[in-house]
Amino acid sequence: MNRRQFMEILGMLSIPSIGHAMNKQHLHSLAKLPNSPVMPALFLGHGSPMYAIENSQFSRGFQAAAKKLPIPSAILCISAHWQTKGTWLTAMANPRTIHDFGGFPQALHDVQYPAPGSPELANAARLLLADAGIEGYLDQHKWGLDHGTWSVLKHMYPQADIPVVQLSLDYYKTPAEHYSLAKQLSHLRQKGVLIVGSGNIVHNLRMLSNTGEHVIYGHDWALEADAKMKQLITNSDHRALIDYRNQGKAFQLAIPTPEHYLPLLYILALQEKNEGLNIFNDQAVEGSISMTSVALG
Ligand code: ZN
Repeated sequence: MNRRQFMEILGMLSIPSIGHAMNKQHLHSLAKLPNSPVMPALFLGHGSPMYAIENSQFSRGFQAAAKKLPIPSAILCISAHWQTKGTWLTAMANPRTIHDFGGFPQALHDVQYPAPGSPELANAARLLLADAGIEGYLDQHKWGLDHGTWSVLKHMYPQADIPVVQLSLDYYKTPAEHYSLAKQLSHLRQKGVLIVGSGNIVHNLRMLSNTGEHVIYGHDWALEADAKMKQLITNSDHRALIDYRNQGKAFQLAIPTPEHYLPLLYILALQEKNEGLNIFNDQAVEGSISMTSVALG
C-alpha cells in the first residue's frame, strides 16, 4: 500500500456513517421509506449453488439467522456474482431468477425465487450514492436475482414475499472505494432495509480438495486465512481487511480474485462504533472454501 492509499483509508474511516449531510431532494426520497430501529446487516458465505436446495448445517444457520431478525421492509443484496462497469441497482418491479451456473442438476435450474423488486429502494440507494459523488445506474431489464442472492434468501425467506434489490460490484473500484461506497448505504438500516453481502471470505475454486462434495475440510492455508480474518473482523480491524492483498500468503490463496471477498467489506463498512457482531456457519468445506458468515447488530 502506498502513502496515498493509506491516507485515503485513514480519511475514509473517519467519515461518520450515519448523520452526514444529504441534500434535500435525497432526504425526500428516503422519507418515502418508513423509519425503523437500526436493522442488523449480514455477510453470508454462500458456497456451492447446491446448498440452495440441500438441507445442511449451513441452510439451518441461514434459517436461524433470519429468525433472530426483525422482518425487513426490503432487502438490498450485494452478490459476488454481479460484477459490472459502474455501480448498478436492479430497479425492475419483478426481477427474474437468474441461474448463473452450469453443470448442476435440473432441480437447481428449476428453482424460482419470485420476490418482488423495489424501484423505490433502488432509487433511494442511487441518491445516497449520489450524495458522495458516486454515480449509480438503475437497471430496468438486464439483471435480476442471481444465485448469490437467491441461494441464501431461499432459506431465510422461503415465501419470497420481501422485496429484493441487488447492488452490483464495480470491478473498476479499489477495495477502499467499495468500503467507502458501502458507508453511504448505512441510512437504509434505519428504513427497515436488511443489507446482505453474499460471497465467501475464503474462495479458491482451483484448489478444491478431492475429498468429495461439501466435505467439511479446509487446507491449512484456508483455515489460517479464515481464522485470521475472523480475528480481524472481531477486532474491527477494517484497515487490515481492506488491505487484504498485503496480509501474506494465506490471504493471497484465499482471495485469488476479489468478487467473493468484497461483499464482506460492504457489511463491515456499515458497522457503527461499538456495534457488536456474531460469527456463524464458520466451517471450511472442500478444502478451499469457507462458509464463515457475519451478523452485525
Ligand atoms: Zn459464489
